[in-house]
Amino acid sequence: MNKETILVCGGGIAGMACALGLKKAGFNPQIVAPAYKPMSLGPHQYHPRVYALSAASQAFLEELGVWGLMNADRITPVSGMELYGDGDGFVQLDSWQNAESNLTWIIESGEIERALHQALQVYNVTWQVDLFDQFTATGIQTQKGAQLAADLIIGADGAGSQVRKKAHIEHHSRPYKHNGVVAHLDAELPHQNIAYQWFVGDAVLALLPMPDTDQGPQVSMVWSVQESQANAFMAMDPEAQAAHLQSLLGALTQHRLGTLRLRSQAFAFPLTVERSAMIAPKVALVGDAAHRVHPLAGQGLNLGLGDIEELIRVLRAKASYQSVGELRVLERYRRARVEPIMAMRWVTHGLHQLFALPGAPAAFARNVGMNVVNKLPFIKRQLMKSAAGKKTGFL
Ligand SMILES: Cc1cc2nc3c(=O)[nH]c(=O)nc-3n(C[C@H](O)[C@H](O)[C@H](O)COP(=O)(O)OP(=O)(O)OC[C@H]3O[C@@H](n4cnc5c(N)ncnc54)[C@H](O)[C@@H]3O)c2cc1C
Repeated sequence: MNKETILVCGGGIAGMACALGLKKAGFNPQIVAPAYKPMSLGPHQYHPRVYALSAASQAFLEELGVWGLMNADRITPVSGMELYGDGDGFVQLDSWQNAESNLTWIIESGEIERALHQALQVYNVTWQVDLFDQFTATGIQTQKGAQLAADLIIGADGAGSQVRKKAHIEHHSRPYKHNGVVAHLDAELPHQNIAYQWFVGDAVLALLPMPDTDQGPQVSMVWSVQESQANAFMAMDPEAQAAHLQSLLGALTQHRLGTLRLRSQAFAFPLTVERSAMIAPKVALVGDAAHRVHPLAGQGLNLGLGDIEELIRVLRAKASYQSVGELRVLERYRRARVEPIMAMRWVTHGLHQLFALPGAPAAFARNVGMNVVNKLPFIKRQLMKSAAGKKTGFL
């Protein structure tokens, strides 16, 4: 057991997974974050945020021992994807083409959080209900005024990270001037465990398969759309939102899943692309505190879980005379993460820009491009491999 103290600031999925992984790897982590507040949901109610978890994230959660703690009835395996362009462009991906039974898994954020929180209690990880406020000579001071000594401070405190700001870690943020509007919908036709995505100019609509309810098939919508359109939609009352979505989605999806009806409250999240230098002496950032990408590939949290795996791997591999907060050790973490984060930023940002290009020639080129990709099994296999991420093995 490594006796050095590691403070994980943040109690979202990244913070909880990080503290649990560190504890299981023989370190001494503590969480500093607001209290965990589970959402109470009825049998046919679902948490508004859902994530598409990659094979690498699934394997990581399995290794953490939390995959089996999640309610299997609330996990939807995805065996295929259908991507539609803004002309006749179409790409179909099937897991069997990559010799896998699933491409990804759709899970509510609340379910992952519940399982992580349960595991943290089993492993007796201390959770200080407080907020990071500032650094001190030996560690941090919390908002309630407590002084906590630490050898390493991990910023898992989300996109507005105070740890990042107070450590003066270089950070760049660019707004897309788009919001991600999320809601659950009843579908008339079965989703067949397929994730659907439509690129319509600079808007992107994703319909992700969810468990069936007493009303029949269910999908979760992630609609990335211009701020003005999202704000106008969010200002409507629920009946007007339902009527607006029903006609808009019917036209946009050409009734691929029949009539789609709003079944939950809608929420909107501003979208940005962000990157940071990730480390400072005695400080490392993980998850949205370190980077953010456009949600069109559903990879933000997957990247965050990749950070955590790598950070634990680096800390375990350090020489025994080195401290967990030593810059030379943390530099190895930063270097290992540069490539996957940059690649994901280029893919998501590039796709967004490609579809935002106005004019008929650009539309023609991107739709022809999609149809060419659809005819090339080798390229499709590569696409599926990179979406799956690499396999884990940190413990
Ligand atoms: C519309 C949309 C759809 C998405 N879909 C997907 C998807 O399908 N797949 C995927 O992989 N990703 C997806 N993402 C990305 C994903 O939501 C984020 O990457 C993920 O939620 C980040 O988790 P996190 O724990 O790093 O940050 P957060 O969830 O923001 O957690 C930060 C935590 O830090 C705490 N905190 C804040 N300040 C302090 C402080 N001063 N001290 C201590 N604690 C503090 C907060 O209370 C919170 O608990 C999507 C994003 C959007 C916007």
